[in-house]
Amino acid sequence: MPIRQLPEDLINRIAAGEVVERPASVVKELVENAIDAGARRIVVTTAGGGRNLIRVEDDGSGMDRDDLVLSVERHATSKLADDGLDDIRTLGFRGEALASIGAVARLSVSSRPADATEGLRIDVDRSRKSGPVPQAMNRGTIVEVRDLFAGVPARLKFLKSDRAEAAAVSDVVRRLAMANPGVHFVLDGSDRSPVNWPGDGDLPARVMQLMGADFSENAVPLATTRHGVVVTGLAGLPTYSRANSLSQFYFVNGRSVRDKVLLGAVRAAYADFVFRDRFPAIALFLSVDPAAVDVNVHPAKAELRFRDAGGVRSAVIRAVLDALGEAGYRASSTVADDVMAAFRVPEIADAAAVVVGAGAPSTGFTGPPPSVRGGGLPTAGFAGLAEPSARFEAFETPPGEAEYPLGTARTQMFENFIVAQNGDSLVLVDQHAAHERLVYERFKAELASGPVASQMQLIPVVIELPEEDCARLEEAAPTLQRLGLHLERFGARAIAVRETPGLLGQADIDGLVRDLADGLAEWDSADALGDRLDAIIARMACHGSVRSGRILRVDEMNALLREMERTPHSGQCIHGRPTYVELKKADIERLFGRTR
Ligand code: ADP
Ligand code: MG
Repeated sequence: MPIRQLPEDLINRIAAGEVVERPASVVKELVENAIDAGARRIVVTTAGGGRNLIRVEDDGSGMDRDDLVLSVERHATSKLADDGLDDIRTLGFRGEALASIGAVARLSVSSRPADATEGLRIDVDRSRKSGPVPQAMNRGTIVEVRDLFAGVPARLKFLKSDRAEAAAVSDVVRRLAMANPGVHFVLDGSDRSPVNWPGDGDLPARVMQLMGADFSENAVPLATTRHGVVVTGLAGLPTYSRANSLSQFYFVNGRSVRDKVLLGAVRAAYADFVFRDRFPAIALFLSVDPAAVDVNVHPAKAELRFRDAGGVRSAVIRAVLDALGEAGYRASSTVADDVMAAFRVPEIADAAAVVVGAGAPSTGFTGPPPSVRGGGLPTAGFAGLAEPSARFEAFETPPGEAEYPLGTARTQMFENFIVAQNGDSLVLVDQHAAHERLVYERFKAELASGPVASQMQLIPVVIELPEEDCARLEEAAPTLQRLGLHLERFGARAIAVRETPGLLGQADIDGLVRDLADGLAEWDSADALGDRLDAIIARMACHGSVRSGRILRVDEMNALLREMERTPHSGQCIHGRPTYVELKKADIERLFGRTR
């Protein structure tokens, strides 16, 4: 086939393939145009998941006749004053959104600038233009898109259900609303019940509207400037993590993006506190010099390229770690709610279970044992309680206990849970999880100032292992030595351990070394071991911690609580689970129906 120059509408349809992937991408382009036009109020309406109708109305600058006609042409934009691409301060600049949408749908654009007495409308039906004709309307612009992809079966095939497409539209609008707290957004149409986010102009209010009071209560503010990058926003506490990334918002100079550098930086910052398959909730705003970022690397402008990716990464990590460090031992308040939800209180009269707290799971025991039903004396049912299952120690309440955030230890239950009281709160601490975190943080602190101190074994401990494990451990020996674990090869199938990290105390050396060998086998050997230090320390900390099952004296429990209060991140164990739960006296009273 000879080479031929493609006709314009075909060029537009090809471009549309990149810019307009699904209804949500149309909404994104149209709302971005409204924001660029200085709109204070934007109304987005969709029907049929956006396939039947997308309508975006704004009260922005509007367009006069000439601009209106040009706006639907390809490569026509008002946003590039000169021919440079390195100082972009608007959301749009490619000048292809309206032309592309007009190529794959029925498009109408109506507009009325402030100084005009009436509006004008032009129509584009799959690249065939008509108008402008007069249109009665308020100041601003209304863009309507109907029958999206009607003539593009290949695209239609890849669309999801109406509900899924409508959800994607909501998500896009949420992200744009987050970046523009001064703009009033309304999301309407048959796809959903209407949503209204007034534009009060302040970010905390917008975050509250979009992510709920829960998030605001369980997040800490970010504020760091580093390498010329200003990082602001809110970082969720690790225990408030989510199962998907819908609660992650990333913005660069007001542009909502999904950028690998930012995603990676956030993952790295939370790596110590959140399990790999969980997503911390975060709203991250970056301001960088527009010249230091290339926004023209992705047709839908969702990705970008930083000139100094390393600097951006370290600025984000620092910002998140600083903020979480300030949060100290705090665990998320929803933890206590979850606990409350787990309690089910039997109603004596008909043994129907009453659920206390919100979002209760459907499991749990469903009623009291038969002997209690009907309000009889519960002696038989509770006979088991006669034998204390916990170590009990009575003591005087020391003065000033309310001053300690985690309170004063009262007793230990099930050989693992410390029960403490702080003023009018009951604090339950998972001693193993907490201690694991403390040992981990001590490790890191020691490592920061040189090799970790080790303690000599009187007699080297010899551990027999498969030859490959021995080889891997031998290879890792220099790294492990920095962590206070001195081991060497002892024949073909054994390892001798001569010194162990002092802060592990009487650790189970055999278990520790076997566990490390497993870890080394599991981690890609190509990975530099230096990057795995945290993971190695985590494994070591696990073996050096007070195992559940160890009975603690009261002074030992209190020492643990005080150290938790001093240690950053101690509200969650290294696997991201909470280390303690706090129940307010009022919560406990609620359990017993004592609230009025
Ligand atoms: P871009 O936004 O990249 O410039 P578009 O195709 O999205 O390209 O829009 C083309 C032009 O139409 C814009 O540069 C702008 O001048 C004008 N325009 C589009 N939408 C609006 C709107 N809602 N209000 C005012 N002007 C608009
Ligand atoms: Mg645009």
